[in-house]
Amino acid sequence: MQLIDLSRTIEHRTPAHPSHPPVIMTVWNDHTEVKKAGKTEFTSKSLTLSISDHSATHVDAPCHFNPSPEAASIDEVPLENFYTEAVCLDLSDVPLKHEITIDEMEAALGNTGEEIRKGDTVLIHMGVNERLFGKAEYLHDFPGLHVDTVHWLADKEIIMFGVEAISPAPEGEANFKAHIACAKRGITHMEGLMNLDKLIGKGRFRFIGFPLKIKGGTGSPIRAVAVID
Ligand SMILES: [Zn+2]
Repeated sequence: MQLIDLSRTIEHRTPAHPSHPPVIMTVWNDHTEVKKAGKTEFTSKSLTLSISDHSATHVDAPCHFNPSPEAASIDEVPLENFYTEAVCLDLSDVPLKHEITIDEMEAALGNTGEEIRKGDTVLIHMGVNERLFGKAEYLHDFPGLHVDTVHWLADKEIIMFGVEAISPAPEGEANFKAHIACAKRGITHMEGLMNLDKLIGKGRFRFIGFPLKIKGGTGSPIRAVAVID
């Protein structure tokens, strides 16, 4: 069994979508401060974090774009949704800012020799980190899904899909269309994934990406992991 870490590191000012605040991470106390408990001297170190519920590698909750009071917050989504079978499609050849079509998804799925099943998580490798991570363009030039492709995934009754970029679709209107389509169709997505290139050619695998239990959370950072047998 092999575990592949699909998560970005949470660190001070790690790149975030411009509509969310950045991660602020500071030292709360450190080993320069000697404390005493009775006759025992010790030092300890801890950090304090201020984060958006959409920081780094994260999953969106239904209530993020669905205004209905019935829409689940992240603490209300069943854990089963974050422990699923999964496939990863290779679309790393698409141009930057491109909206991936259904035909392109069908072709990429055909290349895997697999099928998309009800309840799956579908990861989509678009070569975003290789091309953009660490550059200013990371926040703007990523490709993503055309809204019709979001509906194509929903038609297959997936639970969620995941991308490397900060958004599931290219910047601007396409991104909001994709988010609204997810909300309407009852699926969701993850953003900020890493290492999807390592899943190409691996067939079906187990995906694990549990969110934090944030009361009313509109999303949550996750530790996303692929389990390859
Ligand atoms: Zn999102």
